[in-house]
Amino acid sequence: MLEVKGLAVDYYTEEGIVHALQGVSLEVRPGETLSLVGESGSGKSTLALAVLGLLPRRARVSGSIIFRGQNLLSLSEEEMRKLRGDRITVVFQEPLTALNPVFTVGRFLKDVYLTHKGGSEREAEERALEMLRKVKVPAPEKVLNSYPHELSGGMRQRVLIAASLINEPDLVIMDEPTSALDVSVQAQIIRLIYELKEQVKASFIFITHNLGVAASVGDRIAVMYAGKVMEVASKGELFSNPLHPYTKGLLASVPRVSGGEVKPIPGTVPDLRNPPPGCRFHPRCPYRFEPCDKEVPELKEVEKGHWVACYLWR
Ligand code: ATP
Ligand code: SF4
Ligand code: MG
Repeated sequence: MLEVKGLAVDYYTEEGIVHALQGVSLEVRPGETLSLVGESGSGKSTLALAVLGLLPRRARVSGSIIFRGQNLLSLSEEEMRKLRGDRITVVFQEPLTALNPVFTVGRFLKDVYLTHKGGSEREAEERALEMLRKVKVPAPEKVLNSYPHELSGGMRQRVLIAASLINEPDLVIMDEPTSALDVSVQAQIIRLIYELKEQVKASFIFITHNLGVAASVGDRIAVMYAGKVMEVASKGELFSNPLHPYTKGLLASVPRVSGGEVKPIPGTVPDLRNPPPGCRFHPRCPYRFEPCDKEVPELKEVEKGHWVACYLWR
């Protein structure tokens, strides 16, 4: 469905060039959910924006993003606008900023539908209602006539999820869709996403900094660090057999309900204006050895379906 190859994104800022992504390669298969995890600043949203064609003007992008056989990076603004909201859709973290305060939920959903599918107001309204039912909004007829400020955060996020699915897309990108919600609402939305992804044909990229959330939604997990993909594996494999030192560090730093020691990864994420040479994780890696600070380790398949960018596994 989606194949990202050698993707690099640099942001040109007054303080210097931020090398936000470097040599990122990933694929998303038809019908699967790929969870993208990594610390803040690892480049998860940059990757999402690159796929959506929404990077700011000061970003320079290279590599390729093949979506259903077409390189998205070679499409015009106009061609991207046709795909976005229709074939590729997105749910962002903060539902209130994603919704227009002066439009009702019904108007918003109908416009998303009519812009891409055409048809009558009535058809659009029926589809909007159907979607509100699908995302389990209580009293959908009432919500259709409500304004965003009249809804709770969880309800607004349900509306945005409805909008992301209304045109039966091929790829849905969810960028931290539950991070702005409190824990119990977060759990309900995750449950909903899990159920929906089983019902619809679309592929999903689910972005989160939370490994537990990544595991509960994703079929496969890609771990990002400082603008690079460090490890990709099925979720079972990643949790039972993590190979990259960063993934191991992430797993050890997750607090558990059962107690036990939490071991944070020492050090901090690098400044991407001046990323470490070689393996970007080397300043924090307890296993670093001779080649690590000189050459960039490539992402390699070391076991079937298990990809790692680390010299330990060469
Ligand atoms: P978070 O978990 O905080 O959302 P993220 O993994 O989504 O983080 P990005 O937002 O993609 O990370 O940021 C990657 C890097 O690019 C960071 O160093 C960030 O400061 C930088 N960056 C992101 N957006 C811009 C921008 N518009 N201009 C300049 N630098 C940016
Ligand atoms: Fe650590 Fe070297 Fe592997 Fe990087 S390549 S994670 S520094 S062992
Ligand atoms: Mg982000």
